[in-house]
Amino acid sequence: MNKLTSEMIKARAYELGAQVCGIGGLELFASESPQRDPKSILPAARSIIGFGFAVPRGLYYAMARGSAAYGYTTLGVKYLDEETAEIFLLKMGGLIEDHGYDACLQKSVPNLRVKSDKETNPEVKYTYELIYAEPVASGKPAPDVIIDFGVATEACGIGCRGKSGHIISPKYGPFMRYCFIITDAPLELDSPITESLCDGCMECAAACPGRAISESGLDSWQCAVYYKGAHKSNPCMNGDAAAKFLAGDPERDEILDGSKRFDAESARKIYPKLNFLPQTQWGYAPCLCRRACDIACFNHLAKRLGQKPIPVELPKYI
Ligand code: SF4
Ligand code: SF4
Repeated sequence: MNKLTSEMIKARAYELGAQVCGIGGLELFASESPQRDPKSILPAARSIIGFGFAVPRGLYYAMARGSAAYGYTTLGVKYLDEETAEIFLLKMGGLIEDHGYDACLQKSVPNLRVKSDKETNPEVKYTYELIYAEPVASGKPAPDVIIDFGVATEACGIGCRGKSGHIISPKYGPFMRYCFIITDAPLELDSPITESLCDGCMECAAACPGRAISESGLDSWQCAVYYKGAHKSNPCMNGDAAAKFLAGDPERDEILDGSKRFDAESARKIYPKLNFLPQTQWGYAPCLCRRACDIACFNHLAKRLGQKPIPVELPKYI
């Protein structure tokens, strides 16, 4: 059998539908906790391979016009992360293992947080922190080990986190989903990202109806409430639904205009009232904020990315 090379991996990845592929060393993970370290998953690991799948910009355009929120939730989030990435990873893993190396496949784990990670993921109905997980032996991390996708994209040279908390790709901006393979194969490495793609313009913050982004980054619990629709720009906030929403609640106006601050407890308390659309059977929440932060970011970076901006005027909240 031929020697496995980086070129072979990239050629196969593009053939199977990835738009982006980069191979990185593990140095950037050196300061990560063992619960996020690829070497806790595969001690002999030499590299991490990152793959990106673009989310069609038309899905964001439809959301921005308020005409189709489910399309993004299903095709742009669920199918890319749960179907496309899974089949793709299994095929790529097969290629690597047929050459005699290990391939530890890493897809997004949207509803789990490693022990001590108090953040949430707005895209799903609920998240669970693995608070009862204990190491199986002293010196080992508490399971499950879940790598940080922001660090992983940076290591592979295919993206890095912006102020919005979302990963920005040099070609697709924030419109991309990722998966990874940790491997012990001796591959030629790409350079990591050395200069942030985020220029700190804060247009993402201005576009967020929940004011969930600030100079210090994304407040994930605040985002989770407004992603699920607790604001006036929610396309389902009209007629009866608008009249009934939080009727009689003394904080109603404050919540609707995004000035109330939510934490884990108050966010979980309001979730049952954010039932504007039927929940999906697979646990993802419909996106009712139009993912305005990412559209604003994409439009801001469009020229640098070599992309066409989405022709919408987003309201500004700050
Ligand atoms: S625009 Fe939506 S996804 Fe972005 S930070 Fe605000 S609530 Fe979250
Ligand atoms: S909109 Fe500006 S500040 Fe926000 S993530 Fe994009 S580049 Fe960074």
